[in-house]
Amino acid sequence: CGIIGYTGADDGEQVCDVLLSGLSGLEYRGYDSAGLAVADRSIAIHKCEGEVTALEAALPDGSVDGAAGIGHTRWSTHGPPSDVNAHPHTDCTGRIAVVHNGIIENYRDLREALSAAGHSFESETDTEVVPHLLEAALDGDLDDVVRRTTTVSSDDLATADADVAGSTAVADGEAAEADGDSVDATTVREAAFRRTVACLEGSYAVAAVFAGDETVYAARHESPLVLGIGEAGHYLASDVPAFIEYTDRVIYLDDGEYARVTPDRVVVTDERGRVVDADIETIEWDA
Ligand code: GLU
Repeated sequence: CGIIGYTGADDGEQVCDVLLSGLSGLEYRGYDSAGLAVADRSIAIHKCEGEVTALEAALPDGSVDGAAGIGHTRWSTHGPPSDVNAHPHTDCTGRIAVVHNGIIENYRDLREALSAAGHSFESETDTEVVPHLLEAALDGDLDDVVRRTTTVSSDDLATADADVAGSTAVADGEAAEADGDSVDATTVREAAFRRTVACLEGSYAVAAVFAGDETVYAARHESPLVLGIGEAGHYLASDVPAFIEYTDRVIYLDDGEYARVTPDRVVVTDERGRVVDADIETIEWDA
């Protein structure tokens, strides 16, 4: 199981190439399914049970557009190996894609609360709650969802809000303004991402992309995640072999840290939303 993310490509073909070679580089970790998502004005998701080569064969020739994407090799814990249970998972509108390694312990509670709030699910995975929580956060509905849970409190959301506060305070529900000039869309999505992660119990390395955004948003808690600083774009992955053919300059994330990866920069923040002055290490790796 492993995740890969990349942003900064010239076209969708290049994103797919990087994601596929990244997934091959993570094969040693073991997996039963593979998938990827490329973000353009909309999100294209391709996934299937089986090997990375099967995913590669299933990709349409040259018809994928976009500069950013995420990929996943799955070692199933919740829901058997199948095309539907393979990652990435998406929300009701298909504008969000999420990959995840680990286990979300409180997913039943979250899934029930989301279902009661009108969300419908396609897979049996614990992971699928994440894109739906993101959707709820962007739509200003997350407080309502959280009120229906037993494992998350409104204090958890308040803490997440305080953490993103600082210069650009963005509360749930301001997403509508993101289309205007008043609130930067990336800031809104970062806030939604942090609010979502604040709802999760368990272990995760999680990464998300949104339609119309070249940013990859990621967080880790008790599952590994490393960033790759490239010449033409930046990477994130469960382990270095995923992108070592492109760069040997890396930042290892610590537990509780978040990353916002854009084509021209990588921003690491801690649990409280403070920017971390992360060390870039140059590693030696026998590929
Ligand atoms: N728990 C998730 C699932 O079963 C992720 C498994 C993994 O780490 O690959 O889909």
